[in-house]
Order: sequence, then C-alpha cells, then structure tokens
Amino acid sequence: MGFREAAEYHLNRAIKFLNLNEDTAMALLEPRKSLEVTFSVRMDDGRVRQFKGYRVQHTDVLGPAKGGIRFHPNVDMDEVKALATLMSIKCCVIGLPYGGGKGGVTVNTKELSESELERVSRGFIRAIAPIISTDKDVPAPDMYTNSKVMAWMVDEYSVIKQVNEFGVITGKPLSIGGSAGRNAATARGGFFVTRAACQKEGIDLKKAKVIVHGFGNVGGHAARIFAEEGSKVIGIADSKTAIYDPNGIDIKAALELKAKTGSLKSYTQGQKLTPQELLECECDILVPASLEAVITEENAAQIKAKMIAELANGPVTPEADEILNQKKVILVPDILANAGGVTVSYFEWVQNRMGYYWTAEEIDEKLEKLMCKAYEDIYNFKQEKNCPDYRLAAFAIATNRLVQAMKDRGWVS
Ligand code: GLU
Repeated sequence: MGFREAAEYHLNRAIKFLNLNEDTAMALLEPRKSLEVTFSVRMDDGRVRQFKGYRVQHTDVLGPAKGGIRFHPNVDMDEVKALATLMSIKCCVIGLPYGGGKGGVTVNTKELSESELERVSRGFIRAIAPIISTDKDVPAPDMYTNSKVMAWMVDEYSVIKQVNEFGVITGKPLSIGGSAGRNAATARGGFFVTRAACQKEGIDLKKAKVIVHGFGNVGGHAARIFAEEGSKVIGIADSKTAIYDPNGIDIKAALELKAKTGSLKSYTQGQKLTPQELLECECDILVPASLEAVITEENAAQIKAKMIAELANGPVTPEADEILNQKKVILVPDILANAGGVTVSYFEWVQNRMGYYWTAEEIDEKLEKLMCKAYEDIYNFKQEKNCPDYRLAAFAIATNRLVQAMKDRGWVS
C-alpha cells in the first residue's frame, strides 16, 4: 500500500471504529479546497521554466488550515490532498485550533541554484497568495523547504499585501518572528511522548537502548536528546551509512562529523551496517526519523524493538502495522510522535499575533504539557474503548474532535 492509500486506510479504520455515517465519512475524506497552480520562473541561464504547485485546505472547521509546503519531484495533487488530511488529524490529536493544510511544488531542489530556489519560493507564494493568510491558511516548512525558504515566502507575501504579516507562515528565522525551539521541536516533542509511553508501558528510559534511523534535522536532534536524557543510543543511520555500537555512540562527535563532512561514513567507532540492516538490530526503542515506508511486510517480522516511535511521516506501512501488532511491539504513531513541529508552529503563530515572544524554556514547557496531555488522552481512550492499538486510538480521538466541530457548525448531521 502506498502512502496515500495508507492515509485513507487509517482514516477509514477510525470512521468504521466510530461508526460514522456516509456523509460524515465523505466530509472527512474530501478536502474542502484544492488549488492547482502553474507559475513561471526565470532560470539562471535566461530560460523561463513552468512549475506546478498545489495548496490544499482539508478543512477550516476549527480555524485556519495549517501545514507545510514540500518541494519534491513526486509532489502531485493526490499526495498533497492525503498530506493535508493527515495534518487535520495531527492538529486534532494535539487539540490545536487548526484544520489541516498542505502545499507543494513539483521540483527537485538539488537541481536549483540558491537564486532559482528563491524565485521558485516567491513565485509559488504569489500564486497561492489569494487563499492564504494568518486567519485562513498558514504554511510552514516540510520536505526540502526550511526557514530560509519561509523567510522569502513571508517577505513576498508582505510585499503583495503591503504590510508585514509574519503570522501567515511559521518556521521562520528567529530574526523575523520565528519561535525559539522550532528547529528541535519535532524531536523534542517525540521524546516527550516516548517518555510518557515508556512510563505507562514499563520501559525504563534511562536504561533503554535506542536506535535512531535518520540523521537529518529530526533524527539528529532526536539522537542528541535521547542521549542527553540518559538513554544509550546504540544505532544511528543517515541515508547511506549506519553505525551500530552496543557500548553507545558518541552522538556529539557524530553530529560534528555529519555537519563537517555531510556524512557518517568516516565515523570510526562501532560497526558499519546498511541503514536497512540497522532497523533489525536488537534494541528497546526504535525511532524511524527518515523516510516513509522503511518498515514494510518485508522486514516487519525481523524487527526486535519493544517500542517504535514514528518521528518520520508514515515510516511503517499498514501491512507492517499488522505484523508488529501481532508481535506486541508498542507503536507510537506519527500523528502523535511527530506533532511537536506543528505544535511549536502554533506557538510561533500565537506569538506573532500577540507580538510578544517566549523563551526557549517557556516553549519547551508548553510543548511538554501539550504532548503529554495528547498521549494521556490517547492512552485512556485506548483502554476505555478497548482499542487495539495507539494509531487507531489517535485517529479516532482526532476524528471525533473534527466531527464534533462539523456537527456544531451544521456541516454534518
Ligand atoms: N511539515 C510539518 C508537519 O508535517 C510541520 C507543519 C507545520 O508546522 O505547520 O507536521
């Protein structure tokens, strides 16, 4: 099952579990607004190229649509629709006053110069400007976009509107209304949820052996945070190299090496494996923090972790889910485990609107509160409703919240 089918599959499971009627199911499965744009960008060689872009607002029933913009060659309308739907669920898992949104441009950023990237970013925002605003739809970074791209976008939008509107986009640099703690937010949020799950499930986090698969922004911060909090990180992997060391990896040294050389290749301690092999090593907690579909029906039976905390989006396929459930692996699902990013985006938006900024400590404290409360709600729901797994519980809680708002506004009966 592909990523898009998987998103629909999980939502349909919740719809069935909650016994919702057909009209309600349709209101949940069909995004409210989808915009497809084509825009022109002059390249460095003088040629003008056409780019396709998309912005989907799954729902605005709870407030503005919220979600990232990805730049990737595979982006198309179906993918953006699925991702926007998942953002609604993710926001509702935490209880944020948002619906889901997502955007994307079909482009390979590795083929663009810095100035071409800037013109693509500005061109896309000009094309979608009519449907976004602080109160309507608030984009943020996603795959292959970052705070620099967000800065160009918010600048372009402010030129169009002839007023600075920093709250229209989150994930900005600190100098123009970004929030403290946004960069590490996904990893830190994932840590808070994993810690809460360990307490309930009887895993001693201080003695836990952790493997982090992915060493980019999310995986790098996650490995650092787990190590700082006393766990033993015994495995890390970037896209090409995995390192396994049962004595524990020096994460600080690995991060420095990665920053300096762009790779883990020249790390000298421990044993070198392929990233795929690392997934199957013995550990207490496995943290997939790279791509989607890294754990499938092919390798699920070989996974030896007691708990999987999904920091990536969709790293475990529905087929693998079933195998892992049978093996009694505790799976903390992405829509909860990686919701720290959008949660600190929410804090950024609140700070922009009030014009008053919190410290990194204040952000962390607020993040911890929301993430732990979300875990607690899901745990209780799972127990009370006899729900077979955390993923279904998280989807069901979020879907209930969405449906309640739709009912209250008269959108469904
Ligand atoms: N792109 C991130 C996500 O998928 C963050 C979205 C946001 O901050 O709005 O959760």
